[in-house]
Amino acid sequence: MLFGVYLLTPQKPSSGPSKHMKHTYIGFTVSPKRRLRQHNGDIVNGAKKTCKYRPWDMLVVVYGFMSKVQALQFEYVWQHPYNSRFTKPMMKDLKANKAFGGIRSVKRKLLELYSIVNIAPWSELALTISFTTRETLDLAKSVALLEAPACMQIQIASLDTLPAGKESENDDSCSICYESIAEAETRLRCYHGECSLQSHVDCINECFPDESINGIPSNGYCPLCDKQLEWSILIRYANREQITEHNPLQTLPSQETQDASAFELPIPIDTSIIDLTNDD
Ligand SMILES: [Zn+2]
Ligand SMILES: [Zn+2]
Repeated sequence: MLFGVYLLTPQKPSSGPSKHMKHTYIGFTVSPKRRLRQHNGDIVNGAKKTCKYRPWDMLVVVYGFMSKVQALQFEYVWQHPYNSRFTKPMMKDLKANKAFGGIRSVKRKLLELYSIVNIAPWSELALTISFTTRETLDLAKSVALLEAPACMQIQIASLDTLPAGKESENDDSCSICYESIAEAETRLRCYHGECSLQSHVDCINECFPDESINGIPSNGYCPLCDKQLEWSILIRYANREQITEHNPLQTLPSQETQDASAFELPIPIDTSIIDLTNDD
């Protein structure tokens, strides 16, 4: 099974102004070629966010992650590199540096990619960084501050030749165990904006520490965005649609309970990727 994270930019039109190379989109997929067709509206289930700048080109696919959650964590950090406590020190000076283009430019995203793969835990993974064109690879090499780690493979390959799993990134499967969540089962979703985590009750329960009040877990951390989750709120919003800007939570947790430092709970190692303190 391929667990991949990809980078899109709008295709270059034959004439007129365009967002080609200036705008990007980063997403997760198990089937890059099919996913690109979805973004471009050739098949149903395209990401709504990308309708506006259709048609898109897929420039890079990073794959070789051991699990869906590992790939989703990488996706999240690549989307928000200035927020992660692992990447923030390295990215600090880059954020303000206009030489690397706008915050969503291809140039900057390639630079960020090479920086992120040089940081643990990703630097240890046998990832493949697969470019669709020689031009994009050359651009990446020209902006990267570091080479990719030796355990990673760099290649140029068409999307046709990449491995592809069965369609699933838009389905209703659990973000943690990757099994489907049956209609009759309770579906829990992370209630933090932009986080797409959905899971079985038992799966997310493992992210909550053993301490509990009257047998009910109290607080844990989302394995995807690493923000704190209150069990009671998770349960209250069970089976709800994904929380978005347009579909906000009615009752947000209080500021105090959102502050991770208010609790002395252990943070599982592989979920401690995102820093809570800053937003773009
Ligand atoms: Zn599950
Ligand atoms: Zn989350």
